[in-house]
Amino acid sequence: MPTHDVPDIDSPGLAARLSSVRQGIESALTANGRAAGDATLIVVTKFHPASLVRELAELGVRDVGENKHQEAVAKHAECADVDVNWHFIGQLQSNKAAAVRGYADAVHSLDRPSLVTALENAGRQNPDAKVLDCFVQVNLTDDPGRGGVAWADIESLAELTCAAPSLRLAGVMAVAPLDVDPREAFARVAQASEIVRSVAPDARSISAGMSHDYEAAIEAGATHLRIGTQITGKRPLPG
Ligand SMILES: *Cc1c(COP(=O)(O)O)cnc(C)c1O
Repeated sequence: MPTHDVPDIDSPGLAARLSSVRQGIESALTANGRAAGDATLIVVTKFHPASLVRELAELGVRDVGENKHQEAVAKHAECADVDVNWHFIGQLQSNKAAAVRGYADAVHSLDRPSLVTALENAGRQNPDAKVLDCFVQVNLTDDPGRGGVAWADIESLAELTCAAPSLRLAGVMAVAPLDVDPREAFARVAQASEIVRSVAPDARSISAGMSHDYEAAIEAGATHLRIGTQITGKRPLPG
């Protein structure tokens, strides 16, 4: 990416926005009778330079989210000395599965059996691979292009993931469609979570909630929030 496309990081602004989102999360948790710290904040750093990950880590951020392998692998390499967990949150091609296991601590976008198999095979071939946290992504729309598994296939994908020794099924993930009340969308995510827990009782995590809807997600039980622009400011254009 040419440097003139990358805005300078506005450090005071970044710290203030992060702090305001953290407060928003804590208030929403309290309002819903949940313990402080009951939800993990994943700051989505996609399209931003590696220096943003570094700044965020200095501000105490422990989890970052990326949605494209090429970008994530480069950023991870530039941040080798930065202590953060890398969450892969975008659509993932099976032929990139092994490479993603090289840096990702979690994949939020399991959407088909072939991807589960590719991730598991990559884990098996590398005895040093740590167990990968996995979320079954649920498609809340009728559009198969939107990413995520269809409702009817949640259970079988969860079963397949549970049977893979190098993967740990953490729970479900979803993106609320823009044209639906987020409360309705997140209620369906909670139902999807019940389906997954009927297969794997410990897979209680719910990855839901972005900049504009994280409070509704917390109300519906989200444990992992993927928040970008509200913290980072506007994203540079991709590529
Ligand atoms: C970009 C992205 C986010 C963050 O969106 P914001 O609106 O910037 O908070 C969350 N989840 C996924 C899957 C994304 O691709």
